[in-house]
Amino acid sequence: MDSDEGGRSKIPRKVQETKTQECFLCETEGGKLREAATMQVNKRINECAKTLCDRKLLAKLSAGDVIAQEVKYHPGCLVALYNRERAYLKVREQEKTQEH
Ligand SMILES: [Zn+2]
Repeated sequence: MDSDEGGRSKIPRKVQETKTQECFLCETEGGKLREAATMQVNKRINECAKTLCDRKLLAKLSAGDVIAQEVKYHPGCLVALYNRERAYLKVREQEKTQEH
């Protein structure tokens, strides 16, 4: 399962020694990790965590914004989080329509 070839020259070699290269969302090391570098990502992750009442995620986020924490994530995990939020909101929407 090694599909990393070709992409590794782009990664600047700094920090690596202090932080584990672990995905913020699935807590798995390795794979193609992306750094959370924009406030927009920070905002979206916060929104999703709140909507889904994901306590684990909220706990991590309470330590500071994802940029300050130099959070890494798999792009796929972020998409999965967005999808979870969307599915959740859809269910809530349906419940609302059924209520009345
Ligand atoms: Zn992940």
